[in-house]
Amino acid sequence: MKYAAIFILIMIFVSAFLLNELPDNRLHIYFLDVGQGDCILIKSPDNKTILIDAGPGSSAVKLIGKTLGHLNRKIDLMILSHPHKDHFEGMLEVVKRYEIGKILLPNAGSSDPLYSTLLNEIKSRKIETAFVPQNSDIDFGAGVFMDFLYSDSAISDKKSANESSVISRLLYGKTSIIFTGDAPVEEEYSALKSNKDFSVNLIKIGHHGSKYSTSEEFLYEINPTYAVIQSGSKNRYGHPHKEALDRLEKRNIQIFRNDFSGTLEFISDGEAIYAPI
Ligand SMILES: [Zn+2]
Repeated sequence: MKYAAIFILIMIFVSAFLLNELPDNRLHIYFLDVGQGDCILIKSPDNKTILIDAGPGSSAVKLIGKTLGHLNRKIDLMILSHPHKDHFEGMLEVVKRYEIGKILLPNAGSSDPLYSTLLNEIKSRKIETAFVPQNSDIDFGAGVFMDFLYSDSAISDKKSANESSVISRLLYGKTSIIFTGDAPVEEEYSALKSNKDFSVNLIKIGHHGSKYSTSEEFLYEINPTYAVIQSGSKNRYGHPHKEALDRLEKRNIQIFRNDFSGTLEFISDGEAIYAPI
């Protein structure tokens, strides 16, 4: 009896491990709850992994471990939207504990010593890096593409790091998701100007729901069904702002928030995107 119980326990453990590891022909998008910051983990239908930002502090690495399974130590591509702490700080631990295929960095720099620490860590580990390519796309295989709609290559002192935020769109079959970093409305216009006629199913709302992002015009053009806001509860900026929430509600866009629901997982089968229940 005792051996049977042990055998069953082992089988449960092995199945749980395999279920996590086996490709399921679906695209998974996890908005990890890192508090006041962005962290998005993407698992492609053939188990390739992409990480966009890693939030403040070091909670991202634990959440990634929990999501991918602790034996999976590889991230194929890591993208930093812009060099602010609430987006890059968590990358330091990720770089130390994961095997990273390639890192795409924004064109904007930062005088934050912690950013230099991160860049030095990346360099010492000889991880391949490149600047985010402008108006180009990456083929991840299994029908998944990432399109870079905007990344400012001419950063001047007048521009803040937010304005340099990488805007990217992930495509799988008929479905797509847009990630906007902390881009303000002016940059949303720039992304629209150079990329006519596109709509998305899901938007990661810019700048944690700030009123200076997510313009009515942008929402009209991209026409999303779902919106995700990555903001921490009781954050000092008052994110998300009422103005941004009103604009979303006016268009009947269903809002999901990390501060209310914790980590959020969306799934695409190439035909439709399924929101968390
Ligand atoms: Zn931010």
